[in-house]
Amino acid sequence: MARVYLDHNASAPVRPEARAAAAEAMAVAGNASSVHGDGRRARALLEDARDKVAALAGALPREVVFTSGATEANNLALAGCGRRLLASAVEHPSVLAAAGSPIPVDGEGLIDLAALERLLGEDDAPALVSAMAANNETGAIQPLGEIVALARRHGALVHCDAVQAAGRSAGPWREADLISLSGHKLGGLQGAGALIVRDGVALDACQRGGGQELGRRAGTEPLPAIAAFAAAAAATAADDLDALARWRDGLQDAILAAAPETVVLAGAAPRLANTLCAAHPALDAETMVIAFDLAGISISAGAACSSGKMAPSHVAIAMGRGDLARCALRFRFGWSSRASDAAAAAVCWRKVSARRAA
Ligand code: PMP
Repeated sequence: MARVYLDHNASAPVRPEARAAAAEAMAVAGNASSVHGDGRRARALLEDARDKVAALAGALPREVVFTSGATEANNLALAGCGRRLLASAVEHPSVLAAAGSPIPVDGEGLIDLAALERLLGEDDAPALVSAMAANNETGAIQPLGEIVALARRHGALVHCDAVQAAGRSAGPWREADLISLSGHKLGGLQGAGALIVRDGVALDACQRGGGQELGRRAGTEPLPAIAAFAAAAAATAADDLDALARWRDGLQDAILAAAPETVVLAGAAPRLANTLCAAHPALDAETMVIAFDLAGISISAGAACSSGKMAPSHVAIAMGRGDLARCALRFRFGWSSRASDAAAAAVCWRKVSARRAA
């Protein structure tokens, strides 16, 4: 039986367009920094990829710094700016690791703008506000337009982790001064991402060496992964987000009909079309993930830690739902999803929730 993959926010299956682009890049022998003909071919592919990634972010090609992924892009943005950091409490761990006291969020996981304004006014040191465009666990879309306007009034820069919103939401995340992107969330290969650094934003490199990426990130660019990233970025334009929203909403309705005590986290917030985070107070998420897995369905719970262990969701805790932090299940659709995937998940939920909550 074919498995059902509903974990696109953790990593999307590689798109056919990305495979083809990676294969084309692997057929090129050169290093993009070499002056000979093979190097120039590699350079041409690299710059074509840069144009496509820039288009995804509404940026200029020279504003794209290729990195190994969004973890590195986040680290580079936060360390490279050398500013006082204000980050929201629901950020990815690669941002939270560098943050002091986080900006609180409301019950829907949206940044408390009054608290942000207070924190901005507390200190005259130049600040960097780090706010994700959309949350990987709940899909909640932050009010980036308002955050950028507020930050600008206080002379602060804005970094936006747009990993989950890129290709899925056209929102104002493109207005940020620094933007992190990840190829494998879009259907590219793991190992390539980018930091968009707007013209005029001063950034110190963390990784020094051969001066690649205009001196902002040294190291030979991994051309196949970058070409796949760019091809996946371009392919997102044809994704049917309305279908994803329909399937997600259908699954949400089925879950609530079968177990009305289930809480949809960020259910009242503007949300990405592909994401559903549902928590049933009597169902342990880890057990549910295993039950779904046995039924051939890949979903995830809380924060899918690098260790493979499931930690309670720091996002649910920040939203004041610490009681549900071990119950939050995440269903994330994407380019390879079909209507039957949502139906299969609904059937499995009905069976497993009835058995376990009994
Ligand atoms: N930010 C967010 C919001 C994410 O969901 C992830 C991946 N879970 C990352 C950053 C890290 O991205 P990468 O895997 O490319 O390092």
